[in-house]
Amino acid sequence: MIADLRREFGESVLQGLPSEYLTDFTRAPGRADAVVLPRTAEEVAAVLAWCYEREVPIVPRGGGTGAAAGAVPDGGVVLALDRLDRVRSFDPELWRIHVEAGVPTGRLKQLVRESGLMFAPDPGAPEQSQIGGNIATNAGERRNHLPALGDECASPVRFARRARVSAGDAAQQAVRGINRGRAVCGA
Ligand SMILES: Cc1cc2nc3c(=O)[nH]c(=O)nc-3n(C[C@H](O)[C@H](O)[C@H](O)COP(=O)(O)OP(=O)(O)OC[C@H]3O[C@@H](n4cnc5c(N)ncnc54)[C@H](O)[C@@H]3O)c2cc1C
Repeated sequence: MIADLRREFGESVLQGLPSEYLTDFTRAPGRADAVVLPRTAEEVAAVLAWCYEREVPIVPRGGGTGAAAGAVPDGGVVLALDRLDRVRSFDPELWRIHVEAGVPTGRLKQLVRESGLMFAPDPGAPEQSQIGGNIATNAGERRNHLPALGDECASPVRFARRARVSAGDAAQQAVRGINRGRAVCGA
C-alpha cells in the first residue's frame, strides 16, 4: 500500500512505519499499512477520497497524547496532521485566530499570550497535543464557564467523498438551528 500511496502522494507518504505513529499515550500496540503526513487541507481531502474508494480505514492522528487509544490504528492509513501547522490569521483585537489542525496547543497558547490574551482550554500535554486533537476529544477543562472547544470551533470539515462542509462561523452568534461544528465534533 505504501508504494501505491507514494505514486499518488509522493513524499507525504512515509517510507516506513515509525513506531511513534502506531500508539498514543496509552502505549496500546497498533498496526498500520501506511502513514501519511499531508501538507494541505486539499491533500487531506484527496487522501480521504483515495482511502474511501478502496475501503481502506483511516485513523486521524494529532499529537498522540490521547488517553483512550483513539489514535491507535488497527490497520489502514494513519493520517497524521503534524505538517498542517500554519497560523492562517490572527486578529487580537477581535480575539480571533485561524489555525490549521496540526498546530500544537502550546504554540497557540504562547502566540496569544504575547498579545495579552489567554487561550483557556488547557489539556495537560500542550507541547505535543494539537488543536485538531483537542477539538476531536473536547480536551481541556472548562474555565470560568467558558464554552468548550467544540462550541468555539468554526471550521471546514472534510468528508471522504471530497465533500467540504462549513461548520459554524467566525462569529459564534452566527450559529442558528443545529450547531454543525458541535455535531461533527461529537460524532
Ligand atoms: C500528560 C497528559 C495530561 C493530560 N491532561 C488532560 C487534561 O487535563 N484534560 C484533557 O481533556 N485531556 C488531557 N490529556 C489527554 C490529551 O491531552 C487530549 O486528549 C489531547 O488534547 C488530544 O490531542 P492530540 O492532538 O494528542 O490527539 P491524539 O491523541 O493524536 O488523538 C486523539 C483522538 O482525536 C482524533 N484526532 C486527532 N486529531 C484529529 C483531527 N485533526 N481531526 C479529526 N480527528 C482527530 C484521533 O483520531 C483520536 O481519536 C492529557 C494527556 C497527557 C499525555
